[in-house]
Amino acid sequence: QTNIDAGWNFDNSYALLPDTLFTRMTPPPVSSPVIMIVNERLASDLGLNVEALRSGYGTAVLAGNLIPEGAAPLAQAYAGHQFGHFNRLGDGRALLLGEQITPQGERVDIQLKGSGRTPYSRGGDGRAALGPMLREYIMSEAMEALGIPTTRSLAVVATGEYIFRETQQTGAILTRVAASHIRVGTFQYIANWGTRKELQQLADYTLQRHYPQAAEHENRYLALLQEVVKGQAKLIAKWQLVGFIHGVMNTDNMALSGETIDYGPCAFMDMYDPATVFSSIDANGRYAYGNQPHIAAWNLARFAETLLPLLHEDEEEAVLLAEDAISDFIALYKRNWLAGMRAKLGIYNEESEDEDLINSLLHMMKEQDADYTNTFRSLTLGKKEETGLLSTAEFANWQVQWHARLGRQQETKEEAQQLMRSSNPALIPRNHRVEEALQAAVNENDLNVMLRFLQALSNPYAYSADQEAFVDLPAQSSYPYQTYC
Ligand code: AMP
Ligand code: MG
Ligand code: MG
Repeated sequence: QTNIDAGWNFDNSYALLPDTLFTRMTPPPVSSPVIMIVNERLASDLGLNVEALRSGYGTAVLAGNLIPEGAAPLAQAYAGHQFGHFNRLGDGRALLLGEQITPQGERVDIQLKGSGRTPYSRGGDGRAALGPMLREYIMSEAMEALGIPTTRSLAVVATGEYIFRETQQTGAILTRVAASHIRVGTFQYIANWGTRKELQQLADYTLQRHYPQAAEHENRYLALLQEVVKGQAKLIAKWQLVGFIHGVMNTDNMALSGETIDYGPCAFMDMYDPATVFSSIDANGRYAYGNQPHIAAWNLARFAETLLPLLHEDEEEAVLLAEDAISDFIALYKRNWLAGMRAKLGIYNEESEDEDLINSLLHMMKEQDADYTNTFRSLTLGKKEETGLLSTAEFANWQVQWHARLGRQQETKEEAQQLMRSSNPALIPRNHRVEEALQAAVNENDLNVMLRFLQALSNPYAYSADQEAFVDLPAQSSYPYQTYC
């Protein structure tokens, strides 16, 4: 059945890197795979044939039972600081099938997640449960629609096998699509257990793959560091602006491409509070919403350390260059965040007091337990409210200042509202709605709730009628929400 032309167009450049970085292997087969969902839009963007993907042949490929022509599957080695502790890791439950070259000439990793044990599995079973894989599908596709760099989800198949967590669950495999899976932890791995030459090969590869212009720079490894710093400054600002909490910002979960990667315990914040944590294992709030920029800087410092031997032949000089690049992060992040916040308030030009105006709104939101997304949504719609933050005298006072501020720019009221509409999502994947969709899919084998939700999430800035059904807040009783890796 391999004669079906599914549109695979693999090239396997990662497999040409030093073999300390990976282990070639085929996935252990699963008993009776069934497709749960296929991302048809993404499939065709990748040059893949949707019919073929949905066929028996495609199901076998997406389950790891059949290796498509041209693929060279491998498990990647990496390391990582997990909650601050350094560990030797690797793809313990995932395999890179290969790199698909799209009709647009882009190179993307096609990875099976939940595909079984590998030499890096340590004590794990190498498998993933259906609920979390569908959850990654929803979250990553919502992030894409929000305009935030992210890995994508091409498909989820149920394996037909049970796996054991606290309870017995249905096994599943997610096909993840990524600009690459090179992480801070990949560099940590080679810096610790590889040679200087291998480190340089990985750095040159990363430059070629993600930052070819930086490769022309006179100190290309410094340029690589600066590009990664820039990318993360943009990415984390986008997270903060929509209230996204990654939940497990270990260095192995920071991609050098600048994409959001690893949707385990992530969740969107409801009420605005910088201390918000959802992950059941983040007891100390290391990865709390308000901490994300600092953690990103910390992770980038770990990345910079791996590059020291390449930055300068003199070690002290190398350290100075690295420190400079890292200290740029907070300033760059701040600039991105401020620009995004101005846009959320319909502000086009810059005044030095803007930050105070923004912060006093956030302060009121915190004091009043106001919902982050819906507050900006109401401001965008010019909604009046009988209760809550928008009904307070304090808010009325702030609003006078805000309107005065909008008056001090050339743009009209309509233009300000236009900017707000394109900056404030009407809809985010709210925790209780995500759970509702997963419940139906996993417990009742009904994908329709999830499909309707995905449809509403596919254009978060539309402010359309079908989104109204998903903007309500959870009942108080559903707090506190908890997420799992
Ligand atoms: P994560 O928390 O998803 O970033 O994963 C951290 C590390 O644990 C990675 O090396 C994963 O491959 C590994 N891992 C997570 N779940 C499993 C599992 N079920 N079996 C084997 N390895 C796993
Ligand atoms: Mg991970
Ligand atoms: Mg994970």
